[in-house]
Amino acid sequence: MPQVNGKYKPNFGAPRVHDNEVEAEVRATNFEPVDRGFTKEMALEEANRCLDCKKPLCVQGCPVNVNIPRFIEKIRDEDFGGGLDVIRESSMLPAICGRVCPQETQCEGKCILGRKGQPVAIGQLERFLGDQPELASKVEKKPSNGKKVAVVGSGPSGIACAGDLAREGFEVVVYEALFKGGGVLSYGIPEFRLPGSVIERELKALEDMGVTFEYNTVFGRLLDANDLFENGFDAIYVAVGAGLPKLLKIPGENLSNVYFANEYLTRVSLMGAYKFPTYETPVARGNNVMVLGGGNVAMDAARTARRLGAENVYLAYRRTEEEMPARRAEVEHAKAEGIQILELVSPLEFKGTDGKVTSCVMQQMELGEPDDEGRRRPVAVEGVTREIECDVAISAIGTNANPFASLMGDIELDKWGYIKADEDGRTSNPRIWSGGDIVTGAATVILAMGAGKKAAASITKELLGE
Ligand code: FAD
Ligand code: SF4
Repeated sequence: MPQVNGKYKPNFGAPRVHDNEVEAEVRATNFEPVDRGFTKEMALEEANRCLDCKKPLCVQGCPVNVNIPRFIEKIRDEDFGGGLDVIRESSMLPAICGRVCPQETQCEGKCILGRKGQPVAIGQLERFLGDQPELASKVEKKPSNGKKVAVVGSGPSGIACAGDLAREGFEVVVYEALFKGGGVLSYGIPEFRLPGSVIERELKALEDMGVTFEYNTVFGRLLDANDLFENGFDAIYVAVGAGLPKLLKIPGENLSNVYFANEYLTRVSLMGAYKFPTYETPVARGNNVMVLGGGNVAMDAARTARRLGAENVYLAYRRTEEEMPARRAEVEHAKAEGIQILELVSPLEFKGTDGKVTSCVMQQMELGEPDDEGRRRPVAVEGVTREIECDVAISAIGTNANPFASLMGDIELDKWGYIKADEDGRTSNPRIWSGGDIVTGAATVILAMGAGKKAAASITKELLGE
């Protein structure tokens, strides 16, 4: 570590260490991880750039206020287990958040070094620590307190809540509709961005803490809140996500090979369709693939189509690239992999032959006045359309509340079907808490995880009076 008079002295002016990525031409042909992560040498070099600010703006930018300068200091000291402990005070999933958080709008977006140059690569450093589980100090777990809590849904919100409750000595059972845990982390985000082995590691850590997972259990259908309370559960945390696809409501939406992104990604990411016929689930492998949307889901779908062999993958967005809500890194990765971005277009109709999609007719748009969030509204340019050939189309324009929310128990929903919950995750039912996408609408992993942690604290206080 660079020092002057025994005190840490940062490497002023040193350039940010580049990401350790596989070349675009190579990675676009397979499902292997795109980013190999920092080596120890790279992590130490990057950690030496941090100014160790007295008032660290990066911490304010983190939705769960991870003590970033402290964990970076631990990296400098080569105390990687200690660094993980610092992160785990606020975040359960460093290996995952380091890979998928939108750092450019959160911690790195606030880092002081970003004002005149490149911010510290906080996400990469977090991931570096998260990828060293063998160095993690043992998680302390309190003795059993005799209380039982059920968690519904094993996405980031459910597993964060389950982990914190297990540490407090609760008996925790997670009920999950699918055959595998992780929620969107497993069935949505592709292997090349977030390997299944990383998620399995986090789930295994929970099992080692005594958390039980009941898979293939659709809550609200196979059992409900009353069943659980009758069976001795003291509280329930509902974290079922918001995975119901929004319809485009345009002609031709029902043609073959027009997918919702969630179905397309589930086939590939969860069911291994990219290994068909070795794996049973097929997926259409188009040559010209049209993806509609500009968020992370659209990027994942487009890059997946590329890896499945499509020659042309178009990503059509109704605003411009600048307004795309996807992580910046994903947009750059997608472009490097040959994804063609079509700006300022909105789908009007799918055309087809013999029941299969053959083209998409698009309305030309332009940017108008800013909307309530300050983003300029897309406005149709009357009479200007274009038709683009495609043999597969994937709609990634957003999702709605999980329709099972109304069956979760006697809890109040808002007019869009999302569960109403306060800051601590309390619903209108004093024994049921809720958080993650089913409360906020589609958001981010870190926010879903943060909601799970807050609910765990609130449940602990309520049941143990602490
Ligand atoms: P989910 O992850 O949706 O988990 C809900 C779980 O509940 C699922 O496992 C589901 O099967 C289960 N469930 C549903 N109904 C029932 C039921 N009735 N009974 C039992 N179980 C049930 N965020 C980022 O921060 N960065 C990214 O890069 C990013 N990329 C994304 C890419 C894709 C393709 C998608 C779809 C989302 C992405 N997101 C990203 C958003 C992020 O993944 C979500 O905000 C987050 O997963 C929400 O967590 P959750 O726990 O609330 O819900
Ligand atoms: Fe380090 Fe940047 Fe945070 Fe300052 S703002 S402590 S330089 S990461």
